[in-house]
Amino acid sequence: MELSPLCTDSISTEGCVIKQDRGQRKSKVSRDVETEIENLNKAIPQLAKVFRIIDKIGEGTFSSVFLGEAQMHDGRREMFALKHLIPTSHPTRIAAELQCLTVAGGEESVMGATYCFRKEDHVVIVMPYMEHQAIVDIIGSLTFEEVRLYIYHLMKALKHVHQFGIIHRDIKPNNFLFNRKSKMYALVDFGLAQGTADTQIELLKVDLSGLRKQPRPVFGERNLNSCTPAAATTKPAAIKAETLIQLVKSSKTEDPANRKYTAAGRGPLPVRTQSSTQKPQRAVQQGHTCNCYQTDRVCNICMSRKQQVAPRAGTPGFRAPEVLTKCPNQGTAIDVWSAGVILLSLLSGRYPFFKASDDLIALTQIMTIRGSRETIQAAKAFGKSVACSRDLPRQDLRTLCETLRGRRPSPDEVTPLPEANKDSSTACHHNIQDATPTHRPSVQHGAGESPLSSTLPEEPRDSETDCKVEVDERGWDRVPDEAYHLLDRLLDLNPATRITAAQALQHPLFKDL
Ligand code: ADP
Ligand code: MG
Ligand code: ZN
Repeated sequence: MELSPLCTDSISTEGCVIKQDRGQRKSKVSRDVETEIENLNKAIPQLAKVFRIIDKIGEGTFSSVFLGEAQMHDGRREMFALKHLIPTSHPTRIAAELQCLTVAGGEESVMGATYCFRKEDHVVIVMPYMEHQAIVDIIGSLTFEEVRLYIYHLMKALKHVHQFGIIHRDIKPNNFLFNRKSKMYALVDFGLAQGTADTQIELLKVDLSGLRKQPRPVFGERNLNSCTPAAATTKPAAIKAETLIQLVKSSKTEDPANRKYTAAGRGPLPVRTQSSTQKPQRAVQQGHTCNCYQTDRVCNICMSRKQQVAPRAGTPGFRAPEVLTKCPNQGTAIDVWSAGVILLSLLSGRYPFFKASDDLIALTQIMTIRGSRETIQAAKAFGKSVACSRDLPRQDLRTLCETLRGRRPSPDEVTPLPEANKDSSTACHHNIQDATPTHRPSVQHGAGESPLSSTLPEEPRDSETDCKVEVDERGWDRVPDEAYHLLDRLLDLNPATRITAAQALQHPLFKDL
């Protein structure tokens, strides 16, 4: 069986070691997975001629990823990741993903593609397999040095893809694979990538925004919160928000932000965003004057507006402010913001850090960390008007991270809000606080349980009882100021002044690398 590689230059299989005994692994494969493997082999019979599909190793929103073993010409056996895209994916979208992998991948900690199989609407992208650990499983035991190297390699990967004019759009730990033992890193998943104005990826020059893949309804990515007892029992705010979203979905023409805020007149949701140009436009187009501009209400004129369209693919907790406010000009800076959220998560030991069910909640969460005035000012710079019913002070990043790590007692400025669910009469404030991921002081590992609200990230899994000694060994007692300075620059609310990946590599935090 002869295979023609798509791009031999991009093949990089070094370090792809499987430690697990394969027979053992096979026996652990569940019936469901066995059925899925059978179905895949039936859908693309060619696949079975080349690979022995061993297990399912990943499931994102738009694909299932399998581990496959192939016998090479020289007799060696090699492991590959086989990404089976959901059959509803648009062909151009698939081709664009493949082109990103083959053109930009295979170097600088960016995953490459080796082959591609297609039969009818079934497509499988074959990549070198990289064994990796899920960040959620190791966040509690990472050393500061590991975090520094992880971010350094993420910046290298971003600089590389950004040079090609690729905006990844879905930067998060699940898409930046990390092998702790071999210290290997790989940026994966160009399924949502878009091109910059001068992109070198031909297929990203096509307008892909209308070709959004249909997400699978049931499978989400793993996160700690959804499986905690706290999440199951203390959900009033989350449920409220979901109810509102359903209301919005039943209407086709309204701006969800506006509609939601209307509901907020009677209930929660403290934030709204508008295009700064909205007022004059409205007045001209309708011959009316909009009378809600920069207030916390929505007038009838605005209620009848068409929804503003801007790319917003990605994962809510990692979306940049300009994405959350539907700014039409989005660039590579959105990936840098997401990398900042990852660094915030790793420095504070909380994953996920922001967990929001909608964009306005996500924006509120950002404001609780970066400050509401600062957010409003930055939004103005990129043409958006944000209103917030309450002044949320900007937090000092070191204090915040050290408090969440349990390295300092929770000072008042990190916990300004009353306990969740105590006062439901002040709906607006109630909602701000429920949408706040980090205000709850988190205590030392294992110490008194705090009643975490559903939106709070869970305590990192850490079995150590004497955490002080452990933590010092990991370097968390000497995190340099440079780390928080870089974090501040990555989480610059204004994309125009936000540090770029190339600049970040020159940051003093990485001077020895
Ligand atoms: P999706 O678009 O569905 O999110 P991804 O490309 O992100 O698909 O892949 C989903 C998961 O599969 C990843 O989070 C990772 O765990 C695993 N995976 C993807 N590519 C590889 C690879 N080359 N080697 C090992 N695991 C991989
Ligand atoms: Mg993914
Ligand atoms: Zn109005």
